[in-house]
Amino acid sequence: MRCEDFIDALPDFINRHMPHEDSYVMLDHLTACGDCRHALALELALRRLTERFVTDTLPAHPFALLPSVRPMKPDPYAAIIRRGGLLMPLEFIRAAIRPLTDTIELVQKIV
Ligand SMILES: [Zn+2]
Repeated sequence: MRCEDFIDALPDFINRHMPHEDSYVMLDHLTACGDCRHALALELALRRLTERFVTDTLPAHPFALLPSVRPMKPDPYAAIIRRGGLLMPLEFIRAAIRPLTDTIELVQKIV
């Protein structure tokens, strides 16, 4: 096995998404190649760091803001039709873009 092939197959090897026979070829290459052992160690360390960042840092910050977001009314258009009036088209547009404006508000709070 060439080192390039080992590196290409590394994600599948780590995720155990390869047949047993191919895993043995990978292990056989690892016993003989220090560069690929180093590449495997780096990949595993990077994954551990990434997992820690995602589980410790990422959920806490943005999701803590979610309860403050105004929940969308079940059917905003029905209420507009019931009210009627000359401004109905503008109210339709405002109701249609409300999820977008709520999202922009949330992003501004996060940033
Ligand atoms: Zn190698």
